[in-house]
Order: sequence, then C-alpha cells, then structure tokens
Amino acid sequence: MTSFLGTDTIIEITYLIATALFILSLKWMSSPTTARHGVWAGEAGMLLAIAGTLLNRGIVDYKWVVIALVLGTIIGVPLGKVQMTAVPQRTALSHAFGALCVTLVGTAEFYLRAPGVPKFMMSVLSMEVILGSLTFTGSLMAAGKLQEVLPQRPITFKGQNFVNLGMMVVAVGVAVVLVLHPDRMYLFPAILAIPLLFGVMMIIPIGGADMPTVISLLNSYAGLSAAAMGFVLNSKLLIVAGALDGASGLILSVNMSKAMNRSFSNVLFGAFGQEAAVGKGGKEERPVRSATPEEAAGILAVASKVVIVPGYGMAVAQAQHKVRELYDILTKRGIDVKFGIHPVAGRMPGHMNVLLAEADIPYDKLLDMDEINGDFPQTDVALIIGANDVTNPAARTDSSSPIFGMPILDVDKARTVMVIKRSMGAGFAGIENPLYYMDKTLMLFGDAKSFVGSIVRELSGGHS
Ligand code: NDP
Repeated sequence: MTSFLGTDTIIEITYLIATALFILSLKWMSSPTTARHGVWAGEAGMLLAIAGTLLNRGIVDYKWVVIALVLGTIIGVPLGKVQMTAVPQRTALSHAFGALCVTLVGTAEFYLRAPGVPKFMMSVLSMEVILGSLTFTGSLMAAGKLQEVLPQRPITFKGQNFVNLGMMVVAVGVAVVLVLHPDRMYLFPAILAIPLLFGVMMIIPIGGADMPTVISLLNSYAGLSAAAMGFVLNSKLLIVAGALDGASGLILSVNMSKAMNRSFSNVLFGAFGQEAAVGKGGKEERPVRSATPEEAAGILAVASKVVIVPGYGMAVAQAQHKVRELYDILTKRGIDVKFGIHPVAGRMPGHMNVLLAEADIPYDKLLDMDEINGDFPQTDVALIIGANDVTNPAARTDSSSPIFGMPILDVDKARTVMVIKRSMGAGFAGIENPLYYMDKTLMLFGDAKSFVGSIVRELSGGHS
C-alpha cells in the first residue's frame, strides 16, 4: 500500500508539532499553575523531534544511533535524579553535553563540505563551532565550581580581561579569514582550540555566587550555537528551538542580575565573592539572643500576622513539608500566614516556589518581594527559615558590602524576627548578617526540618 503522505512530509509535520510544543512549553512554564503542562509539552516536543529525526532517509545505518541512544540513557537517567540543590550544576553539565554535540556536528560538517564551503555556510559554521566550544569548556568549569570540585573563589590576574578579549578577537578574526578564503582548511582547528581555552578563562575569574547567572548565560550561548547548527543542517526545528533557548537564557540572566542589583558586566568581569568576611560556619564574637522551639512556638501562638521567609537552608534540609504543617497549624488558629519570596532565594530561579508548591502551599500565599515588603511593619513575626543573604540589611545601608544595592526582604521591619539556621555561618555571598545582632531578633539554632518539626509539635501539644 502506498502511503498517503511521503516520509519527508511526515517529518516536516512532526517537526512543526514539536516546534509548537516547545513554544507552548515555555509559555506554560511561566506560571506555577501551568508549569506541569509546560514540562509535559517540552518532553512530548523532544520525543517527537527525536522520532522525526529517526525517520530521516539520510540515516542509512541505525547501529550507531542505537548505541548513542543507549549511552545517552545510561548517562541521562542518573542525571535526572539529582537532588534539587544540585540542579544548577546538573544543568551546566547538560549544556556542556549539548555544546559538545553542536561542536562535533559542526566539525564533521566542515570536513564533509570543505574545501570551498560557501560564505554564508562558513559564517554559520564558524559561529556554531566557536559558541559550541566555549560553551562546552565554560559549562564544565561552571559545573565544577558549583560542585566544589574546583575552587569557588574567583581566580584573577593582571590584564585578564584584556587577554580574554584578545583570544576572542583572534578566534573571530580566524573565522573571518576562513569565510573569505574557504580553501585555508588548516585554520579550522584554531576556531575550535581558542574558544575551548576561552571557555576556561572566561569562568575562572567568576565567583561561585554568580555561577547560576553564568549558567543561564551559557544556556543562551548553547541555544545560539544550536540555532546556527539549524542553518548548517537546514533544520527549521533546530533554528526555532535554538532561538527560544538563546532568548530565554538571556532574559533569565538579565532578570537574575537585576534581582541581585548587579550589571551583566559586573557579573562577568567583577570577580564577586573574592573575600569572605565570615567563612561558612565561622565564629562571631558579638552576643546574639537565641530561643528554644518551645519559646518560638509560644511567640508564634500569640501572633496575629506571620510572614515566613524561606531560603537555601530550607531546600538543603528538605523542610518544605514540615513548613506546610506549620502553616496549617497556624492558620487553623486564625493566624494570618504569608510567605515572602525573594527572586534569588535558594540556588536557582523559582527554587522556593517549586519547593513550596511541592508541599501544596496555596499559590496566593506566596508573595513576591515587592508585594510583601510593605507588610513587614505590620507583621508580628518574620520567621526566616534557612535564608540569609536575601534578608541582610547591610544591602541597604553598608556601601562597602558586596551585596550593597541588592533589593532584600525587609524582615528587620517586623516586630519580632526569628531565624532558623544551624550556626552563625554566612550565606552564599560569604558575608556577615547584622540582622542577627538586632534586639528584636531571636536565633533558632538547628536544622530547619527538625526545628520546624519541634515547633509544630509544641503547637499541637506534642502530637505531631
Ligand atoms: P544563603 O545562601 O544566603 O543562606 C542560606 C543559609 O541557610 C545559610 O546561612 C545556612 O546557615 C543556612 N542553612 C544551610 N543548611 C541549613 C539547614 N539544614 N537548616 C537550616 N539552615 C541551613 O541563602 P538565601 O536563600 O538567603 O540567598 C541565596 C543566595 O544565593 C544569594 O546570595 C543569591 O544572590 C545567591 N544566588 C541565588 C541564585 C538563584 O537563582 N536563586 C542565583 C545566583 C546566586 P548555617 O550554615 O548556619 O545553617
């Protein structure tokens, strides 16, 4: 029986549906209520894109495809199971794999077509290979820094920005020569090697605290290189998916920089987090007031308005379900409980929203920084659970602080402040938090999950 549609048409239709699904996926992922659909749409789009590609007549032997699929699955499944707190470095690794793939395809395409690659083709091939190579090594370095297998602190030397810029100028210059003189094939390895080195050099002066922003920028580069590959392979799907990736990565990086009140150039060239004022777990001489779970429960019980501010420590402790129990028990007592969410709380955008949604806390109780900040002066208790930098008043007052100018949650304006954390250790920016020494502040020392659990037990009369 002859088929109604030719294989090429089926492939085109498959790609068209996949493209639409990618666009819908991004749109749906912009709201917590539709985010789940967004993930499904993205997964379905990718499945269709792979299925469509496998129908391609250009594939004459499926042996290598099957081997690659098995290898990819072996690597991909454990990667999908990492802890939520390790997602930034996991994402960086995915970018590294994607960029390596783009670079290898670009290299293969060059040697298949050379010598005499047409000018437009050589231009997009060069862009693909340059962006792919620097994203590959840059992402590996970023993942290494976040996983702390490489030093987190920025490594700088005199004239570094000049050297880095010089390398990129040389790489782009070589690419231009290749476009103008496509017979000079011997130059091609240079547009691979220089960006590979540039990727390493670009990341070493950037501190660990800025890595998530850099990763989203690398995401953008990976997207652009994939779009360039789309032109090389004449694949509209790759062009659209790459452009979506490139644009969304860039918007995310800009938004993250804004939330930290940092300019893009400051993130890339500023060597932030070089000196830690207080090391993690470091000791502090000044006295602080601390309280037990029973005392904390007593204060919460007589409050009428409570704002809970979660941070990275809640994620580490996986305390979100205990926080939900606390929310339930307080609201049952008629206490007004809201959550103040800082845009860069945790270690990735939306980190707190994801965790609190997982614990089924109603979305309308999660208020962004701008919405909640006006409420703090009328708040009886600001309960901070594993957050530090995003509550640091030094950002408002101390012009010498590395986070000076970063908008923060105004918890210090609440009548009483209670902070759950394990020690006087610093947050990610590595700096001291004057909030802890205020008269109205009570430090609740302990692991977030067990401390919140103890408060819940106290409030429920020892029945939790
Ligand atoms: P911080 O990293 O400032 O502080 C987290 C605090 O949690 C620490 O001080 C730590 O104190 C405490 N903690 C750790 N483990 C536990 C535990 N098991 N139980 C209780 N407390 C714990 O977190 P924030 O969320 O306040 O701020 C996020 C930081 O990350 C900001 O500096 C932000 O700029 C940065 N960042 C965030 C990005 C994002 O997209 N979200 C991106 C880029 C950077 P102790 O050790 O004493 O327990």
